[in-house]
Amino acid sequence: MDDRLFRNTMGKFATGVTVITTAVEGVPYGMTANAFMSVSLSPKLVVVSIGENAQMNSRISKAGEFGVSFLAEDQKDLSMIFAGQVKENQKVDFKWLNNLPVIENAIVNLTCKVYNTHVEGDHTLYIGEVTDFEVVEGNNPLVFYEGKYQEIH
Ligand code: FAD
Repeated sequence: MDDRLFRNTMGKFATGVTVITTAVEGVPYGMTANAFMSVSLSPKLVVVSIGENAQMNSRISKAGEFGVSFLAEDQKDLSMIFAGQVKENQKVDFKWLNNLPVIENAIVNLTCKVYNTHVEGDHTLYIGEVTDFEVVEGNNPLVFYEGKYQEIH
């Protein structure tokens, strides 16, 4: 089975865009991810899937907790920064929720404690137990479809 064809096929599943965040010794880090899913209501669990080469793996392992911010349609620049798609280092001001850095003006910010991890193939699934969340009403989400950023009309 061809890798490119598989990626393109999976790209037919439209998703939102999140930034996964954590802090190690008080230093905040972020990484763009669309592999996010809500898992369970009782307890309240979510999952993110992170590739084996991402630095976020060691950062979440050290911190034992992470944040998830659902980006709004006007936050494409932040998605690009945290996906390494912008060459120069950019200064990003985080806000802090429950002692974790999260993205200001995102549609939703969640904070999670690592509940379980599963290494599956070349990704690690981090199951997070939600410890806090906040919602900003009135913004449309940033959408990712067929490898491109899209907006809802
Ligand atoms: P780094 O390379 O250290 O960080 C990523 C980028 O964020 C760097 O450019 C860094 O300078 C910047 N950055 C980090 N912290 C800060 C800070 N405090 N202030 C300013 N800039 C900072 N990969 C997955 O594994 N799973 C996914 O679900 C996934 N979904 C994606 C969805 C989309 C739409 C895109 C575009 C990419 C996705 N990726 C996903 C790829 C992933 O975002 C990149 O591979 C990312 O560069 C990996 O980051 P890293 O953890 O190695 O950290």
